Amino acid sequence: MVIKIHIYFLSKSEVNEDAAKYFILNLNKVQSYFEYHFIETKGYLLKKNEVYSFEDLLEKFNKFIDKNHEQIKKIKGRDIETADINIGIIDSTLENNLYFAYDNKKAIITVKDWKKSFYPPTVLEYLTSCIIQSTFYGLTNGLGSHWETSGCLFDYTYNKLDKKSGMCLGFICDKCKKLIDKKYIKCINSMMVNKWIGDPNSFGSVAFNLKKIYKIDINKDTGLEKTRWAKMKEFLLDATKPVITDFLILIITFIFGYIVGKF
Ligand SMILES: [Zn+2]
Repeated sequence: MVIKIHIYFLSKSEVNEDAAKYFILNLNKVQSYFEYHFIETKGYLLKKNEVYSFEDLLEKFNKFIDKNHEQIKKIKGRDIETADINIGIIDSTLENNLYFAYDNKKAIITVKDWKKSFYPPTVLEYLTSCIIQSTFYGLTNGLGSHWETSGCLFDYTYNKLDKKSGMCLGFICDKCKKLIDKKYIKCINSMMVNKWIGDPNSFGSVAFNLKKIYKIDINKDTGLEKTRWAKMKEFLLDATKPVITDFLILIITFIFGYIVGKF
């Protein structure tokens, strides 16, 4: 049976939602045990710039899911599948310096102050990493974060820089491996973002499509919505490249012509 994981954007954030959906849904292609679905909602649950305890958020999230299911049922005339695991992405502060929290088949990930603590890599890689963590917490009894920092996906990362190394390494330690069902071990390895992003210059890769379709270069962008100024700067750089090249060719031709003329 395929495990269904529902993902909600619970507040309007600076994350480029379309790019995040494309990126995260690649997890459906790299393995066949889990299916990730983004659930459309009428509006957001939370306002920005508020502080919540994880417990309060879980309560609100539960009600939001039920309400959203009822609305969809009214529109579509039928129930939507319930999820095995629900994940909410927010742009509010989680109490106790948390950026990600999981309990009883539900997870909350915040992108508040993400750039300050985690960039680079992109917010898309950060979200994907937390989503993979949530998936395996939901499936594995006894799996939780461990105090030792070994570069494992399940390290306890009070020091947020440790989360970066966990994301980049794509490693699962022996202790965690022993807890995870053996059939998932190969699958979790193939899900790590460092395995399937590819190169932005390699046609057809995830990174290539991200750059071509969503204008996000995995090597330098954040994955957040670009400001108008950033978009304009990119446009001007693109537009001026051929002009600069033409100008350089003209100068070189002129200098060469001058030298040849002298002799
Ligand atoms: Zn571990």
